[in-house]
This record gives sequence, C-alpha cells and structure tokens, in this order.
Amino acid sequence: MGKILEVENLEQRFDLNKGILDKLKFKNGKFIKEERIVNAVNNISFSIDKGKVFSLVGESGCGKSTTARTIIKLLEPKGGNIKFDGVDITNLTREEMLKYRKRIQMIFQDPYASLNPRQKIIDILIEPILFHKIADSNEEARERALEILEKVGIRPEQGERYPHQFSGGQRQRVGIARALAVEPEFIIADEPVSALDVSIQAQILNLLMDLKDEYNFSYLLIAHNLSVVKHISDDLGVMYLGKIVEKGSKEQIFHSPLHPYTKLLFSVVPKLSGSNLKNSKNIEGEIPSAINLPLGCYFHERCPYAKSVCREEMPLEKEVEDGHFVLCHQY
Ligand code: SF4
Repeated sequence: MGKILEVENLEQRFDLNKGILDKLKFKNGKFIKEERIVNAVNNISFSIDKGKVFSLVGESGCGKSTTARTIIKLLEPKGGNIKFDGVDITNLTREEMLKYRKRIQMIFQDPYASLNPRQKIIDILIEPILFHKIADSNEEARERALEILEKVGIRPEQGERYPHQFSGGQRQRVGIARALAVEPEFIIADEPVSALDVSIQAQILNLLMDLKDEYNFSYLLIAHNLSVVKHISDDLGVMYLGKIVEKGSKEQIFHSPLHPYTKLLFSVVPKLSGSNLKNSKNIEGEIPSAINLPLGCYFHERCPYAKSVCREEMPLEKEVEDGHFVLCHQY
C-alpha cells in the first residue's frame, strides 16, 4: 500500500506586521524593531496510507486547520515538503495545482459559509463537475449531481433549493456532495461536525465512513475532540502549539497514550451521546502565544510532570514502540 500524503518538516508562519513601519516600536526612549510572527505550524511530519484515515486532534488554535490549508496550498508553506501520491507539490504554482485540486477535496466546518447562497444546490454541484471535465454536457453533469445528492441523502427535488433552506446537517451533506462530485482520491475534512448538533454529528460521521468504504478515499480529518475521531480513524496525530506531540495508530493512542497532553485531552473527552463540551475550558491553563513560543517543551507551562530540562530543551521525537512517536523528555 502506497502513501497518498507525505508531509515532512512542514512550517507555516504569518507576519502580523504590515510593513517596516509597523515593526518599529518606541520603547525606553528609542525606536526598536519588533517582529510579530505567528508560528502556526512548527516543523511537523506525518504520512497517510492510501485508503486510510489520519486524524489531527488538538485544541482550537493548535495549528491543525492551518496545516490542512497549507497541505492543499490555500496557504503557501514556509518550510518543509508536501508529497501527494509520490509527487512533490510543495512548490507547484496555482495553475500546476489545478489537477490536484480535483484529486484533493476539502470539507469545511461551516458549510453555510462555503456554499454560494445565491446558487441552487444542484448548480453548486454541476459547476465543479463541468469545470473539472467530469461530464461532457450539462445534462450529464446534472445526472451525476443528482446521483451524488442521493448518495448523501438529499432528494432530487431538494436540489432546486438554496443553501439557506437547509438545516445545518443537510448543508454539511451538500458540502460532502460537492467534494464527492469531482471524484477525489483524498478528502481533507476540517472539523466537519463541530458546528452540528450532537445528534447529527454521528449521522455525518457515519456518512463519511460509508462513502470511504464505497469509494476507498483517504482522509485527513481535523477535530478538536477525541470522541469524534475514535471510530473513523486508523492513525492519529495530537497537535499542540503547531507541533505534533504524539502520533501512532488509533489503538496505540487510545489504549496507551504517552504524552501528558494526550492524556489531558482524554480526561475531557465528551461522549457523542452526551452534552457538547468545549475542551479548552476544561483543560487547565491557556495555550501559550504562538507569537512568542516558549523555550523548551511548548507544553511545560501546563504540564504536571515538567522538570527543569523541559523549560530549557525541546524534546526530540522518539519512537517508543513500532509506529508510536512521542515528543516528551519522559521517554
Ligand atoms: Fe511535560 Fe516535560 Fe514531557 Fe513537556 S517534555 S510534556 S513538560 S514532561
């Protein structure tokens, strides 16, 4: 089995200063140059086997969505390499990326914001089918669009409606249909259920799983809580402040979590059947600023096991068992 995606030492940063004047600050009677760089993704590596689901999990602001947008090159990477199906796409131009845009599709957290409110659902699907030349005529494209809508549980007559006439769960079904319409091989689903009612979340996750079995997609699934990814994932990466602090198979992460942050995430796992719970309010302390990254291990200010070495040195990634990696001085 080959790899659909290989990410090596990926970095993403944002410069908050608009220009040189913005960098100049007046302090203690003189002007000094102050850089304000958000270090959103800090040297991360992972890969996804064909037909498998890899989930990136972590609190809001940990860099997982930025990672997804960088992989699909909605944002240009600031460092590292991205290989899709064996081809290095890191430095491809917008035009060169077009053929990969068909093969890699994205499902967004807020389907309403990503659907054109003035377009009927059927037209939202027909447009990419024609653009990527999946169908030769309007009629053929319409037929294909209706087929896909049926697959995701939307009736043909509902295709004539507009996005605002649907519930949140139905809109997410439309978002999934739009991704499916161009026959992708790899789907990046960025928090696909976090905006939905708990009762609907399981339905959408089941739909994603059924489609995966039928089409043999590979997925990168982004989520902020572990319960969402439990049934759907093959492998997982846990992200904190732009770093993957632990990665391994679902069994390894769920049965023997190693990193203190992963353990903390487990301690606040909400049940899909229970009330919706926001992780960040239940984990003690705040994620440090990505502008001024802490020295040493990024987690040391919140870690109950922190020692002096943790405050001074970033731990190196260690493979503790076959395929199970952790970034912590305890190992
Ligand atoms: Fe905690 Fe130290 Fe491990 Fe960081 S390196 S997670 S501070 S024990």
